[in-house]
Amino acid sequence: MSNQLSDRINSLAPSATLEMAAKARELRAEGKDIIGLSLGEPDFNTPDYIKDAAIQAVNDDFNSYTPVDGYVELKEAIITKFKRDNNLTYTLPQIVVSTGAKQALYNIAQVCLNEGDEVILPCPYWVSYSDIVKLADGVPVEVETSIDTDFKMTPEQLEAAITPKTKMLWYSSPCNPSGSIYSKEELRALADVLVKYPQIVVVSDEIYEHINYGVTAHASMAEFDDMLDRTVTVNGVAKAFAMTGWRIGYIGAPAYIARACNKLQGQVTSGANCIAQRAVITALLEPVSRIQYMVDKFRERRTLILGLLNGIEGFKCNEPEGAFYVYPDVTAFFGKTLGGKKINNASEFAIYLLEAANVATVTGDAFGNGNCIRISYAASEEQIIEAISRIKKAVS
Ligand code: PMP
Ligand code: GLU
Repeated sequence: MSNQLSDRINSLAPSATLEMAAKARELRAEGKDIIGLSLGEPDFNTPDYIKDAAIQAVNDDFNSYTPVDGYVELKEAIITKFKRDNNLTYTLPQIVVSTGAKQALYNIAQVCLNEGDEVILPCPYWVSYSDIVKLADGVPVEVETSIDTDFKMTPEQLEAAITPKTKMLWYSSPCNPSGSIYSKEELRALADVLVKYPQIVVVSDEIYEHINYGVTAHASMAEFDDMLDRTVTVNGVAKAFAMTGWRIGYIGAPAYIARACNKLQGQVTSGANCIAQRAVITALLEPVSRIQYMVDKFRERRTLILGLLNGIEGFKCNEPEGAFYVYPDVTAFFGKTLGGKKINNASEFAIYLLEAANVATVTGDAFGNGNCIRISYAASEEQIIEAISRIKKAVS
């Protein structure tokens, strides 16, 4: 039988981060000693106080379908969190809980975009943005940035990218993959452009909010009164609470967008997992100081990995202010021959590192920027030291 798959799925790129993680797993199963620095996943366990809340929920028989947009108690906890951490005032009809921030982002694209609508994505952007937009028949419009501007988009670049078809702007701050953080002043400067174009809805992905090393304070686009009613604030518990597999993300949004996401979710997945939702109530209501030990560890590892990478000629790193990735510019290696192989681009460089150093990273192409590779330092100090020493050997 011929391929009966849709054009939609045939044209979808697989998630490069998940694909690299799967490849590393495969090579490991073949007996290779692969160090995986490709996946953005904390190497900590979920804290005990959150696990206890989940165990309690099982024993309390939380086993039924939940409301499609989440338990009211969880939505109230999210409202409390938004007020406490972000000074954002949301009401119950503005909150939707989803199966991960990824589903939240998918919902937003599906409910906001018509065919041909343009979505501005400052590069580098998180790997799934462009394909989620394309799945909704939207058109990603990439705005190039470089290490020289700490991978941040300027207001002038934003304005130049806007056309009559621009419907949305999507970004993450702290940024996956660059670790850059937009300050409140920088966001205000972008907002000053956006207020001139009332048709543009902003998606502010703040999932790395708490993984912030204290240089630039976290700020939200929705803090500005003139942006609140056209910004969707996306967040989740995967990263800061070491809960990647629990699959809970959420939005605070204009009520009409939240209602639409609720309607879509009701036909696709229904409410998110009941036990995970109960655990997240505790995760959000407990003081943020309880997860600080993980952030402190990530900060130490950032210092460690930056020191090691800066000792390798050809790696040019910005200093990430948040998240747990470094995003070195590796253009110095393009055109060079390493281990008998000519390296033409970041993708070939990442494959070379996997084959010659047994270290899994992700090519920058996956994030819309082909000059860099992404290295996750959500790994132990020993793994980081060994991985970077292998990389050094492989490129020297
Ligand atoms: N946004 C960004 C920037 C991310 O790095 C991730 C990582 N998975 C997500 C969204 C999706 O998060 P979740 O695991 O909650 O779906
Ligand atoms: N967000 C993580 C990453 O960027 C997890 C992988 C994924 O969901 O694609 O590696």
